[in-house]
Amino acid sequence: MSIEELRAQFPTLSQTVYGLPLVYLDNAATSLRPQCVIDKWVEMATAKNANIHRAVHKLAVEATDEYESTRDAVREFLNAESREEIIFTSGTTASINLLAYCFGEAFIRPGDEILIAESEHHSDLVPWQLMAERKGARIRPIPVDGTGRLDLQRLRENLSEKTKLTCVAEISNVLGLKNPVKEIVNICHSANCMVLVDGAQGVVHGAPDVRETGCDFYAFSGHKIFAAPGTGVLYGRRELLEQLPPYMGGGEMIDTVRFEKTTFAPLPGRFEAGTQNIAAVPTLKPALALARAMRCPELEENQRAITDYLLRELGADPDITLYGRPSCPDEKIPLFSFSVRGAHHEDLALILDKQGVAVRSGQMCAEPLMDRFGVTGMVRASFAPYNTLAEAETFVKALRRAKTMLQ
Ligand code: PMP
Repeated sequence: MSIEELRAQFPTLSQTVYGLPLVYLDNAATSLRPQCVIDKWVEMATAKNANIHRAVHKLAVEATDEYESTRDAVREFLNAESREEIIFTSGTTASINLLAYCFGEAFIRPGDEILIAESEHHSDLVPWQLMAERKGARIRPIPVDGTGRLDLQRLRENLSEKTKLTCVAEISNVLGLKNPVKEIVNICHSANCMVLVDGAQGVVHGAPDVRETGCDFYAFSGHKIFAAPGTGVLYGRRELLEQLPPYMGGGEMIDTVRFEKTTFAPLPGRFEAGTQNIAAVPTLKPALALARAMRCPELEENQRAITDYLLRELGADPDITLYGRPSCPDEKIPLFSFSVRGAHHEDLALILDKQGVAVRSGQMCAEPLMDRFGVTGMVRASFAPYNTLAEAETFVKALRRAKTMLQ
């Protein structure tokens, strides 16, 4: 697929802001939606509008087929062993909250420990803190070094018979560095510790394979990978999911209900209480198909060219501190968080916006990492496969202009 063919599928890309072509570089916050996703969403809200798993009428059967065939598509995309291992949620945050609650109930005793990367998003820290408080467990950080890489030696040293789980992002939403997930899983498994991979960013920029990495749990959000917002997935190895108690109670997650006692549905229904996001979940099918089609040499080369260009440009500017410096090119995705000497991150983002360039500024839901680097916030430019090298050049020009205005 050529980049022009890809861009033509995203209506937002032809939008202007302040009379200028939109340069959308906030893809790590949320991606744009392609026409195939919008079409599926509309189809589910119109022609196939019915609740799932319940009625026998035609629309209900069609809606159920759409929903359940999406589960098959996700299973295939993650290379999970069985469809029962795929649980639909409203996003990464919901997936991790579900897991933190249930994991705590099933596996955590007072004094147990959870290791969490210092670079984790708040969504992969706070749910564990809430659980730890409830169950008398302890959270221990795995530090990152000055370049942003996880200290695997400290991971090894901190693992003990008390460590029940390690939580790590496949790719940090601030640093844009790929963590060595397989190595981390091997280290943890050799100490009988399970691993949750936060795939919110990794699902877009890698080729997630839960059987290859051997991780125990994997979470991601649909909206970061071109699907409708309010969709998400928790993958868990079947034998582990089967040991977890239910999370929310309600319709469809039960087997039999009596006032005296209720029994619960088998996987995955047990974790999908109440009416699900029936219009949006099926958008994951075209979204994942497109994401897979994006893994082609032309688009991958374009991403590499953008990454090389920005590492060079931002790296050469003595006023710019870049966070997440790779040791080899393959380690970095085109996501650049930085600060500029003498300029506040929010001012920079506002001036970039006025030039048509949408970036993120602030703590990026990673306050411990901001503390680690001694900053109150950063600017982040995050690229998707539909972004062009010309857009990267526009961004650099706009940044230079913003710098001159502020310094
Ligand atoms: N983890 C990471 C690494 C993320 O980038 C994000 C989104 N910024 C989340 C978790 C939370 O995702 P969501 O808000 O879609 O639940």
